[in-house]
Amino acid sequence: MDNSVFEDKSPLVLIVDDVAKNLQILGTILSKKNYRIAAANNGEKAIIIANSSLPDLILLDIMMPGINGYETCTRLKKNPRTRDIPIIFLTAKNELADIVRGFEAGAVDYVTKPFNSVELLVRTKTHLELKMSRDMLKIRNEQLERLAITDSMTGLYNHRYIIDSLSIRTAEAKRYKQSLSVAMLDIDYFKKVNDNFGHFFGDFVLVRISAIIEDTIRKTDIAGRYGGEEYLIIFTNTDKKNAFNTLERIRRSIEKENWGKESLIVTISGGVCEFEGQDYLKLIMTADELLYKAKENGRNRIEI
Ligand SMILES: [Mg+2]
Repeated sequence: MDNSVFEDKSPLVLIVDDVAKNLQILGTILSKKNYRIAAANNGEKAIIIANSSLPDLILLDIMMPGINGYETCTRLKKNPRTRDIPIIFLTAKNELADIVRGFEAGAVDYVTKPFNSVELLVRTKTHLELKMSRDMLKIRNEQLERLAITDSMTGLYNHRYIIDSLSIRTAEAKRYKQSLSVAMLDIDYFKKVNDNFGHFFGDFVLVRISAIIEDTIRKTDIAGRYGGEEYLIIFTNTDKKNAFNTLERIRRSIEKENWGKESLIVTISGGVCEFEGQDYLKLIMTADELLYKAKENGRNRIEI
């Protein structure tokens, strides 16, 4: 597993206590480990610092003037940015009964005053490690989610994702009365490219054309690899005339591309149509029919 994101910085621990002496003791104990430390002497400051520097762990005093530890904890747990930061309460022995309230407010643990440095360091370490495992799992899941919707060769969205997106985007276009256009593109004589220059070079052409498409469309448009050498592009909030203009730019860029092979010119054909309330699969069929018309009409052209 890739740990690099966690190795560049030591964990940041935010210590919160209204008594300066306590902050000093906590700082001294924690400085025995390779932690970065931030301090706050009241709940308001703790919330501001937590929100801006996103510490990995918060040691939070309960009894403080102003907003107390419970309230501070509750507010941190309500904010999506700070919600997942583990909070350990700092409590005097005679406040122990109140610790239940601390857990109810969202704390993961507590440490009693006067501080026992071994106990403090063990609990701190445990909860930092748990936090890092959770963070790693989250990143891993995000990577897996991305993989599941991506075409591994070109980095564009895969067939399933682009179809699902079209279904969603057409529903949105209908609801918000926005225009939407769909284009199907196909590389001309791609089999010849593979036959003459090998499959490795063929893959290179697919990747390069994918990059040209990605570079030309807007961030709000979605491009996917529909099939072997076929691409589907969803132009959101765009009528077919504007989509056509973008496709023409893509077509010309590809035609002009220097492939480092003498006299090799790669071209694409395409068809573009506009959403008029029809079923999204019908929309794909229409774009496909226009693509074949472009092939019949001599290739290296976009039919509208
Ligand atoms: Mg206090």
